[in-house]
Amino acid sequence: MTADNPPRMVFVLKQELPFLPRELAWLHAPGLGLLDEWALAPYGIDDATDGLYEHRVPPDAALWLAAASLPALFWGLHDWAHFHNHGPLTQRALTELQCDASALSWLWRNRAAIGLNEGRWEGARTDVERITIARYADERMSFDPALLGPDRLREWAETPPSPRV
Ligand SMILES: [Zn+2]
Repeated sequence: MTADNPPRMVFVLKQELPFLPRELAWLHAPGLGLLDEWALAPYGIDDATDGLYEHRVPPDAALWLAAASLPALFWGLHDWAHFHNHGPLTQRALTELQCDASALSWLWRNRAAIGLNEGRWEGARTDVERITIARYADERMSFDPALLGPDRLREWAETPPSPRV
């Protein structure tokens, strides 16, 4: 897993929303059985984060995620977390860390359903940790490895979600 956007990952539109830029899903995720479905344009992640918040559309009412690999699923979940964390991106490394932690926790919680064993999850976690360390270095901030520690992420994954307000 690297910091690059993986191929074959799209957010398929459940409904047409004029504020979301769209493109045909299969163009970005061929071979997944997507035919004439529309998807959020890959450049539209920030538009979706702002637009869904502005129009009070819950992300799961607007989109579903199609992903063809573990990196695709991880980065899709990372972006999914962005959709729920609207606000000015003033602390980039910290915001990205929260999205990474959410995505890794989701992968852990659902590892049986997606066929992910502990070793591959740990491999993904250490890849993400490397990416995070580089982001913190870019911002000349120190990174506390405990924030992405495996025990912490697993504990978080087992915590029941709080009700939507
Ligand atoms: Zn991000």
